[in-house]
Amino acid sequence: MSSPLLQVSNLKKHFPIKGGVFGKQFGTVRAVDGLTFTVYKGETLGLVGESGCGKSTTGKLLLRLHEPTAGEILFENENILTFSQEKMRKVRRQMQMVFQDPYASLNPRHNVEKILEEPLIVHGIGTKEERKKRVKHMLEVVGLSSYHAKRYPHQFSGGQRQRIGIARALMTHPKLIIADEPVSALDVSIQSQVLNLLQDLQKEYDLTYIFIAHDLSVVRHISDRVGVMYLGHIVEVAESEAVYKNPLHPYTKALLSAVPIPDPTYQKERVVLKGDLPSPSNPPRGCAFHTRCSECMDICKEEKPQLQQLEHGHYVACHLYME
Ligand code: SF4
Repeated sequence: MSSPLLQVSNLKKHFPIKGGVFGKQFGTVRAVDGLTFTVYKGETLGLVGESGCGKSTTGKLLLRLHEPTAGEILFENENILTFSQEKMRKVRRQMQMVFQDPYASLNPRHNVEKILEEPLIVHGIGTKEERKKRVKHMLEVVGLSSYHAKRYPHQFSGGQRQRIGIARALMTHPKLIIADEPVSALDVSIQSQVLNLLQDLQKEYDLTYIFIAHDLSVVRHISDRVGVMYLGHIVEVAESEAVYKNPLHPYTKALLSAVPIPDPTYQKERVVLKGDLPSPSNPPRGCAFHTRCSECMDICKEEKPQLQQLEHGHYVACHLYME
């Protein structure tokens, strides 16, 4: 395995719930609650979980678009949480984000040239001529044409708009791309084209990806390793094949049982999750998954299981595997 690019330790983001005339705090939403993981150079780490499990908040925390409540984020061995605004602005050049809804993330009043040029202007990169040249080049790299530069976002299909979003993320030569559900707003027929493009770009530009999704089948297509999130923390992380062939955590098994397999002779047991995801403002004691787990034991209601390595590179947080 290559060296770490990003190391996240015990990352937390708690949002206060305020109300009343005096805006008094009466609760806390624990959107991210003790997240620990490492992303190695050149790999794709998939982060999956149901909506509301803290995946998207995690993406924003990594770029410091939200300030974490606690924890540490090392990017190339430096804790970016100690960086000044100015230093952080420079680091963001290396860490870019691709958003779920390409239409909402592109300014409808700007043409594509202006949209793509903007990150270069913000970071003071290149002359006007150099910037225009790079815009044209990046449009071609993502499968569009230089004549698209003068068009506006509404003149493109969803897939083309996501290609523009990807081109914008690549303008500053980043090392890390955080892709937050980048294909979930697209037709299934277009999804694989965008996933293939992301894979091609990864090889060509030596990129590292964090790929956030709610759908394990999408993540499988692109990830080297997969981390499964539940209520703000990781419950299982392993190489992609290990997660799919030998899932250990009951939540991972339930998520996987809902993924269709294109083989009619293969019968698998469907695990139906009981109830809804509990509120992150009032997470269950002990194992946060115990209210929905069919294998829940007494200890699960009292003690939070810690993430521990069971096999090489395969970590799970579940009392079933504790000695
Ligand atoms: Fe289920 Fe207990 Fe494991 Fe949690 S710790 S997933 S409740 S068996």
